[in-house]
Formats: sequence, C-alpha cells, structure tokens
Amino acid sequence: MNVPLLDLKPQLAPLRSQMLEAVTRVLDSTGYILGREVTELEEKVAHYSQASYGVGVSSGTDALLNALMSLDVGPGDLVLTTPYTFFATMGTILRVGAKPLFVDVSPKSLNMDPVLTAEALQADRAGANRIKAMMPVHLYGQCADMQPLMALSKEYGVPVIEDAAQAIGAEYPFEENGEIIWRRAGSMGLAGCFSFFPSKNLGGIGDGGMITTSNEDYAGVLRSNRNHGAEPKYYHSRVGGNFRLDPIQAAVLSIKLEHLESWHAGRRENAATYTKLFAEAGLVNDPVILPSAVYAQMEGAEQHNHHIYNQFVIHVPKRDELRQYLQDNSVGCEIYYPLCLHQQKCIAEHGYGAQSFPVAEAAAADSLALPIYPELSTEQLEYVVATIARFYKGN
Ligand SMILES: *Cc1c(COP(=O)(O)O)cnc(C)c1O
Repeated sequence: MNVPLLDLKPQLAPLRSQMLEAVTRVLDSTGYILGREVTELEEKVAHYSQASYGVGVSSGTDALLNALMSLDVGPGDLVLTTPYTFFATMGTILRVGAKPLFVDVSPKSLNMDPVLTAEALQADRAGANRIKAMMPVHLYGQCADMQPLMALSKEYGVPVIEDAAQAIGAEYPFEENGEIIWRRAGSMGLAGCFSFFPSKNLGGIGDGGMITTSNEDYAGVLRSNRNHGAEPKYYHSRVGGNFRLDPIQAAVLSIKLEHLESWHAGRRENAATYTKLFAEAGLVNDPVILPSAVYAQMEGAEQHNHHIYNQFVIHVPKRDELRQYLQDNSVGCEIYYPLCLHQQKCIAEHGYGAQSFPVAEAAAADSLALPIYPELSTEQLEYVVATIARFYKGN
C-alpha cells in the first residue's frame, strides 16, 4: 500500500471545475493585482478568524515580515519567540534587523512556555529593555498557551504577533469569569499571520498569506506596507515592500475556505483513529509518544477546533531508522524540525549555538510527522500503524 505524507489530488477532484471557473474569471477580468477577489477573501478570513480586518499578502513569511515592519521592529530590538518552529519565524525577525530571543517550549504542546516567557520579559525589563514584540507559534495546528501570554503582553506592554501559519481556525479556550470562551488563532494577539502554502490546511495553488488584526490603525499600516508603503500612490512616508496577494490565489482560496471546517474535522477524526490503532497495537507511550491535544479535555472541546492537525507528530526512539523503514514501505513521513533555530548555521556567529533549550532539542531528535490529510482511508491509517508495529516488534 502507498500512503503519501500529503496527497492534494483527492481534495482537488470535487472542486476542480469550480476552481477552473474562478481562475478563468480572474484571467478574463485582466485585473491581476489585488481587487475584488482579494478584498472578499480578506473579509471572509477575518470573519472566520474572529478578527476585524484581513490583509492579503504574498506568503506566510511576508505576513510575518510585514507584521514586524509595521510595528517598526528593527536593529537593536529583540523579538521573543520559540526555537522550535519553521525557519520563517526567525528569518523574518533577522530580516528586519532585530534578533530573536528564544525561550524553550512546553514538553506537551511544544509551544512557547509561558513561565519561561515571563522570566525572559522580567529579565529584559530589569536590564536592557529591548524586547519589542512576542511571536508565539501555534505549532502543528494547536494554539500556544495564549491566556498567560496575553496577560504578559498586557503587563509588559509587548505586542503579540501570532505565527498562525499552521493554525487557521484553531481555537484556544480562554477562561473569563469562570466561563470558557474559544478564541480563534489570529484574533488574540495584535496580529495573526497565516500561510496559504499548499500543504497548510487552507492551501492555495501557489504561495499566499494573510494578516488579521482588529486594530484599525495597524491594519492601515499593514495595507500600506504591503504596497511599498505608498500612501497615496507614488508618495512614500515609509518603506514597505511588494507583499501583495494575487487575485488568482484569492479566488481559489475563497472556494476552498467553504470546506475548511470539514477538512479540520477529517484530520481530527484521523488523529482519533491513529490513537485507537496505536493503543490496539500496544505501542502507546512505549515506544510511541502520541501528540498531545492539550485543550481536548476542556469543556465543549468537541465542538471546537482545539487542534487542526496540520501535522500529526509522534515522538519515537530510533526515529531515523523508523523514518527509513516507513519510506522503504511506501509510507510518507517527515521531520518537523530536525534542527532547532538556535542551532542554525546562518546565525552561528551570533553565539546562539552555545545556548541550550533541552525540550526543543529533544523534540528535534525524536519527532516524526505521519500522514494525516483528511482523505486518508482507514485502511491506509491501519497500514501506517501496522508498519510501525512491525518495525518495533518485528511481527
Ligand atoms: C509555513 C510556515 C510559515 C511560512 O509560510 P509561507 O507561506 O511558506 O511563507 C511561517 N511559519 C510557520 C510556523 C509555518 O509553518
């Protein structure tokens, strides 16, 4: 049996003619920059993400870059973030001339540890006072622990840019006056940055991204900066870039957005099936650590996107050997991420390599993402688990 890590064909098939029609509409319109398609998607994604404004941009990376530029983060500034994420989180911080300040992640969620975050903020405010923003990542499609992080944001006056690239629609259970209020990724911090890279839960037919915010002034700056900071055209009071979202992507994404909730649900169902199958195979905890859905036990969680499983990441001994074995048996898998950001060569001269973030480093050594896309069949999931069982137990 063949089980690819991701196969976009079964998702495309039922939508193909509708998407072709939308692409043709944009083609025939000859309006190829911004315009109605982009504005409509911005409104839809903002509404879906419980935010007031959406600003369509060219990628998730450019969403982060624009969000930082629009906060005037630059040389001399620090941005508090996680060492365990996709490179773009750090890459954009470096590109505006600032430096990342890492805190280790929590062992279960692998998201920024709020206690360590508090310590870092306290130390910074007692010292050089350089932290200009916080950039938590909602890793694999599960929100970071936003309640304490937002409390710290308020206490220290440090704005939060959510790297929600893997987490469109993911919800976090805020407790307010003894009640649980589920808030969507991109609605909690000053800004939420989304990616429409094809492998994300909502993927385009090329690159694309979106920034959400409920701050009107900030939305204006984001909008201006995505178009060279022009305001009006050809007059520049700031230096932005070309970060525009293509209408052809917006038209396709509008169609796909209609199906996003059912795709999230399909991924959660697959995660539940994996959990059941791993338990039946007697693999749970020894040797396979399953991903922690840290908000699944909250009241009402089953009605909410407590996790959208952009990735289903297990932790295993002999990870590299298992990876090879799965590949030899036609099961796609990948390591997200094999190296922490502080260990990357491109910042070697900054001395980050001497730092240690033990939880993130342990995750980099034993994590393995399994196929989780919604259209997988039960037989495919069974085959994945059976193959892993065979690797560890030899039967
Ligand atoms: C995908 C991703 C990005 C970058 O998005 P692109 O659209 O590929 O530029 C940024 N951060 C995280 C955590 C991501 O997973």
